[in-house]
Amino acid sequence: MLLPIVLAAVLQAAAVLPAGTQYDAKIPPLKEIAGHSPGEEITSTEAIAAYMRALAAAAPERTILVEYARSWEGRPLHMLAIGSPERMRNIAQVKAGLRRLADSRTLSNAEAERLIKELPAVTWLMHGVHGNEISSPDAAIALAYHLLAARQDPAVDAILKQTIVLIDPLQNPDGRARFLQQTLMGRAASPDPEPGSAEHDEPWPGGRSNHYLFDMNRDWFAQTQPETRGRTAIYLEWYPHVVVDLHEMGGDSTYYFAPPADPLNPHISKEQVALFDLLGRANASRFDEKGFAYFTREVFDSFYPGYGESWPLFQGSVGMTYEMASARGLVFRRADDTLLTFADGVIRHFTAGLMTAETTARNRERFVREFLDYRRNAVREAEQGAVRAYLVPPGADPARSERLARLVASQGIEVRKSQESMKVGDRTLPAGTYIMPAAQPAGKLLRTLMDPHTPQPEAFVKEQNRRRKKRLPDQIYDVTAWSLPEVYDVEALTSATAPSVRSEALGARAEKAAAPLPAARVGYLMPWGSGTAEAVAEALQSGLRVLTADQPFTLGGRRYPMGTALVRTAENPADLASRLGTIAARCAAEVVPVNSGFVDEGISLGSNEVVPLKKPRVLLAWDSPAQSMSAGWTRYTLERRYRQPVTVVRMGSLGRIDLRRFDVIVLPAGNYGSVLNGDSLRRLKDWISAGGTLVTLGEASRWAARENVGLLATRTELRDGRGEIETTEKEQKKNEPSPKPLDLEKAIQPEKERPEATPGALVRVVLDAEHWLSAGTDGEIQVIVEGQRVFTPIKLDQGRNVGVYAKKDRLVAGGLVWDEAQDLLTQKAYLIHQTMGRGHVIAFSEDPNYRAFTEATQLLFINAVLLGPAH
Ligand SMILES: [Zn+2]
Repeated sequence: MLLPIVLAAVLQAAAVLPAGTQYDAKIPPLKEIAGHSPGEEITSTEAIAAYMRALAAAAPERTILVEYARSWEGRPLHMLAIGSPERMRNIAQVKAGLRRLADSRTLSNAEAERLIKELPAVTWLMHGVHGNEISSPDAAIALAYHLLAARQDPAVDAILKQTIVLIDPLQNPDGRARFLQQTLMGRAASPDPEPGSAEHDEPWPGGRSNHYLFDMNRDWFAQTQPETRGRTAIYLEWYPHVVVDLHEMGGDSTYYFAPPADPLNPHISKEQVALFDLLGRANASRFDEKGFAYFTREVFDSFYPGYGESWPLFQGSVGMTYEMASARGLVFRRADDTLLTFADGVIRHFTAGLMTAETTARNRERFVREFLDYRRNAVREAEQGAVRAYLVPPGADPARSERLARLVASQGIEVRKSQESMKVGDRTLPAGTYIMPAAQPAGKLLRTLMDPHTPQPEAFVKEQNRRRKKRLPDQIYDVTAWSLPEVYDVEALTSATAPSVRSEALGARAEKAAAPLPAARVGYLMPWGSGTAEAVAEALQSGLRVLTADQPFTLGGRRYPMGTALVRTAENPADLASRLGTIAARCAAEVVPVNSGFVDEGISLGSNEVVPLKKPRVLLAWDSPAQSMSAGWTRYTLERRYRQPVTVVRMGSLGRIDLRRFDVIVLPAGNYGSVLNGDSLRRLKDWISAGGTLVTLGEASRWAARENVGLLATRTELRDGRGEIETTEKEQKKNEPSPKPLDLEKAIQPEKERPEATPGALVRVVLDAEHWLSAGTDGEIQVIVEGQRVFTPIKLDQGRNVGVYAKKDRLVAGGLVWDEAQDLLTQKAYLIHQTMGRGHVIAFSEDPNYRAFTEATQLLFINAVLLGPAH
């Protein structure tokens, strides 16, 4: 019988803990709590939490256990700090010293040298941020046991003497719980190594992401998820010197550790690169000893600042990613028919984590000193550089500027708020302008978040161009632009001198007292913007009646832009002032009381162009074929960013839903051809014609533009500008034999090819300032473009191109857009509005809710949802 042999292989490999180690019987082994030993079974999220508590209780003099966050689904996230009893006894003092070292500006040389001599190095090992990457959490709990229970082990003794180890066993409990549930449901009587079997093959959305289907290894500077916010708080409490994020990759790979791949972010120092090398060589020697295969430098880069490894780098830590081939279950058959076990992964991550902690311990002083030097250099370089401060005036949408400033302030970056106006060049910036001094210890993180463009090395870009010509895949791992002022569309100026105005420190969170609004005879006006949209969504849900102005007007000497919301006193309950006051304060929305409705200029408040808003009932497509991240970002944007309730409906069940109960249907990125066709497509069109608002995002818009779908009267284009589905004379001519000698380069060009892909860049979009969809914007924004969708602008008799990519000389706002892609994108449609009967289709060529950090395009999306049903 075959099964027992496979099972035997699993069990045989399961000796994770080093043979011959003496363990203290007072520390409970995993088996006592979970019923299995490390590597034998995938430990549940509950058992991991219980085991961390048991370890902390068994060794209180050497541990601190912190619950640092709760997941959206209510699971606790833990960090276990392990150190020597002497150190843990004085832990408050040690932590104060660690933070003191991070504050390099006020540190004297003598004090710095004392701290470098006395402080432990801190190694932070983080596991399982992707819930279906299962081996690292089990390695984490085995390592915690080993560090607490091993007796007379020189490596462990050195680690406890020289360092504190922070172990986060499970960064994404919701994703792991989801993975575990389905792998156990699919598991055969004896674990099946076949990669296509149900225990390895995850149903939508898979276990990688968290509850809102975010990849949390992209969220570190965006801080949208509670799990991420908890982790940055841990970082800022301890300022660890070495940070490792332990992952899994495809089952046919081996193991990856530092040094990372090109391109390096320019804010990574050569000293950090030297430490990558030190740690990489140490891991390599241990892996060589044990006969474990590995690779370095080939795939995983450190360019984007939202990774768990990169955000700490710009604070001065040595941040690294480790990756193990995944068995995605207990045992996995590789392409060459060898078996990879879950235990193989646990052993390798255990080995790499332990070796990293040991290497840090043996080089304690160097790691501590380099951390301080990085932060000192950040100050020194900025003092000699062209930019001494970033300045963010409150601008036209103060709620959005404040949101950006507080996001920056939440990351250990000093932000100040001016208390008086200041001159910068020929501009006078008002009091309330946010000041971000560049010469500060976290100045490099500040720069990479605030600069419009972070350059990639020229040689790297040149190599990518060479590869593209040969149709080899590029070596770009993630997006190439993320600048916060660009994605928020908030003005940020730079100052060549350090501002000297009176100012106060800005905290990460606002404390807003809800003030009741003054009485208003006519009602309240709220100029449209992010804060107002949020407040209006909540006001509508609470039953208030709200209108929106489709044209600008001037009243009481003030000009109100298109979109301005009007809440009339006469049409609302008597407690309007207090209810609206509470909502507006929470959303930081401006409210202006109005006692006379007689306008100076433009439309009147009683005009037909001031239209009542509906409380929108929103349906969001869920499950396959929607792309999970797009679906998750959209759900998050609705439910959490704008507090707009939404019903998520599995696409397989759409036929059972009475669409008339909804005002808005959102299709996240995806190709809906398999579920919306024939009758179901007809029902959707009937619903739109009867007054529905359909919103399509990214690939869903590409699907909607297909001729046989017929939801959008435009088409998507090929690399040479032809439509994706038409054949032209030009194409036929190409195939005719030619008498001339063969031009090889020309002859091998593909006949029909999708456009050049853009690897995630910031591109400018010009908006139609007269269309209600662009309410709250200044007519031009920057959008994240990722992929190869190009939409021919819609004809005037079919609809409106509310957003169009800018002309080529202004097109790219940041990041890499290949020259050919620029030619193709310029002046093409980004946001299309097309009416159909009494309803309409609103199509975005890209995902406006990208990673939920794209505030400006998220506003366009919520405009579609809130304002669409009123038009
Ligand atoms: Zn991963």
